[in-house]
Amino acid sequence: MKLDDKVTKVPQVGPKSKEKLANLKIETIKDLLYHFPFRYEDRSKIENIQNVLKSHQNGKDTQNPVTIKAKLTKIKNIYTKNCKRLTRAAAQDETGEIQLIWFNMHYLKRSLRVGETYLISGKVGTFSGKTSLIVPQMEKEQVTNLHIGRIVPIYHQTEGISSRWLRSRINDVLAGVEEEKFGGLVEEFLPEKLLEKYAHLVLGEALKQIHFPDDFDLLEKARARLGYNELFHELVRVEKVKQKWELQHNPVEIDFDEGILEDFVEKLPFRLTNEQIVAVEEILEDFREGAAGLPMNRLLEGDVGTGKTVVAIVAALANLESGRNVLYMAPTEILARQHFATFAKFLPEKWRPYLQLVTGDSPRRGLSPERTVLSKDSPLITIGTHALLYKKQKYKNVGLVIIDEQHRFGVEQREKLLSYNSDKTTPHLLTMTATPIPRTLALTLYGDLEISTLTEKPRKEAKIITKVVPNSKRKEIFKWIAAKNEPTFIVCPFVEESTHPAFADVKAATTEYETLKKGALKGKKVGVLHGQLSSQEKQKVVEKFEKGKLDVLVSTPVIEVGIDIPDATVMVIESAERFGLASLHQLRGRVGRGKKDGYCFVFASSEEKERGESNAIKRLKNLEKFEDGLSLAEIDLKMRGPGEIYGVEQHGFKNFKIADLSDINLIENVKKDVKMYLESFQG
Ligand code: ADP
Ligand code: MG
Repeated sequence: MKLDDKVTKVPQVGPKSKEKLANLKIETIKDLLYHFPFRYEDRSKIENIQNVLKSHQNGKDTQNPVTIKAKLTKIKNIYTKNCKRLTRAAAQDETGEIQLIWFNMHYLKRSLRVGETYLISGKVGTFSGKTSLIVPQMEKEQVTNLHIGRIVPIYHQTEGISSRWLRSRINDVLAGVEEEKFGGLVEEFLPEKLLEKYAHLVLGEALKQIHFPDDFDLLEKARARLGYNELFHELVRVEKVKQKWELQHNPVEIDFDEGILEDFVEKLPFRLTNEQIVAVEEILEDFREGAAGLPMNRLLEGDVGTGKTVVAIVAALANLESGRNVLYMAPTEILARQHFATFAKFLPEKWRPYLQLVTGDSPRRGLSPERTVLSKDSPLITIGTHALLYKKQKYKNVGLVIIDEQHRFGVEQREKLLSYNSDKTTPHLLTMTATPIPRTLALTLYGDLEISTLTEKPRKEAKIITKVVPNSKRKEIFKWIAAKNEPTFIVCPFVEESTHPAFADVKAATTEYETLKKGALKGKKVGVLHGQLSSQEKQKVVEKFEKGKLDVLVSTPVIEVGIDIPDATVMVIESAERFGLASLHQLRGRVGRGKKDGYCFVFASSEEKERGESNAIKRLKNLEKFEDGLSLAEIDLKMRGPGEIYGVEQHGFKNFKIADLSDINLIENVKKDVKMYLESFQG
């Protein structure tokens, strides 16, 4: 067995589980092994029932689950008056008896045996007047217990795949690792010297401890080791690409007429902001220098609405004028179309016939019907999705590749670009992002990156008013929205409602769409947009919304990057606790883009509230306080780690699950380690 074998090689993982695991992006044994717990429950301390009852009755903290070891004395399935299915049981140890309660789990009665002793772990609460354990976990005592009697890992779950099930499967894989059944499955790759330098756990041990920690100190060490790995691997990739890039020394020459560019800028319907002028200058300077030095590798960073596109257009124009092709890649087809429209509007007349849109579903391979190439000899500007770079059809003589909302700042694409052109020259690369990346972080990770930043919004006639709204005010808000009658987005995390109880309260676009149409927004024209629609269907919905044929668009976060509907005024975000602040900030950037102020109403799932996790609300309230993405990103980084900032698919950083990206010092150290490591291999 190998790490990249399919999960179905793991005992008890069949084709059905395989499908469900795919929802968690788990396809291989490695994915399973690297599906880390998102929290742990300390079920290692066994308490006696008397103490549990006493502390609950004295009103002590009941947030943390408790664990007892007790005999099951009775168990009964009950239907309540309102047809809820309940299971009521009792458990006893030498010190007393406690009630156990489950909902919708009648099957438990068959699997649990009265008279048997169990380890029982759950939250303490009051049920029908009695101190009880609510929905406790049960496990028979064994030599080594998996689910109770230890520090227990809690995993992100999905429908049909519970945390408990994952725990067992991962345990099986780890047991296999230990018995060396999976020979070399997790071979150590770090040199002895580096292991010593940081007193790191060896890889196999770190993986075991992150899932099943013996104690919290070892857990910390495991996280440190595995976080280090993430940085190490990423920096190895970055360093290799960088070295190749530096060796290449063969940038495409851009030989443009400054006068034409000045003329273009002059004729724009607005004046460029100072920051835009600086960014343009920096890019042109890279082109001028490119001939002698390296191809450009520049990140243009700026919040939504700071005017990145026009900067990109000037860069594109410089290329066209010097006879080079330009590729412009957007993350989605909808955005590619919008950029196509923007370019068509701004590009000088002379170049418009040479603008083309390439989409996945255009009937002719490659070229879209929107524009056809007029002349093979003239340079082209081609707009499409990120897939453009990987198309079989080659674009020769490419001077500039622009990537909007790029994963990992084009590290992968750079590799592809190295000898992209038939004469083996390397195009210049401009990546753009609205994801606020702390500058030090970007520079430390992607050392040879240059950065231009836009912070001012040129059209700041409108502001965005953000409110985190308690669910009790929901009706009122929707009444206000109905009366206001302006283009409204409603964003839900899921496409379809989940039947899994853990996600019962997470809003789904399709369900909200049906409910709102008949309920709170009756009489409004409501549309729905999500990733399961075909690209044509998506396109149609967006067009209708743009043209005002829809009042309300219920959507998943597919709208996050870039949809430009200047009239949209109201945004409702449901189950917002599921998003990082930076993502929420980008979502709200969809409204208040025109002259009218935008309103963003943020709701948390009711479940979240009941659990009393007011931390979630506290975190969300930062949206009311901070208007800029960068501050919010930094809060995310501190509170929830990088995965949360850059959690949504479009963004990079998905290779970092536990690395501490706020520790710049560590990153710099790992960078040195990587250089040494590569040198010792490359001699
Ligand atoms: P971004 O891609 O950075 O989110 P866009 O490039 O879409 O932003 O620009 C947002 C809006 O601002 C567009 O409608 C654009 O035409 C307009 N715009 C860009 N630069 C300026 C400027 N200097 N003055 C006025 N409006 C501008
Ligand atoms: Mg943009």
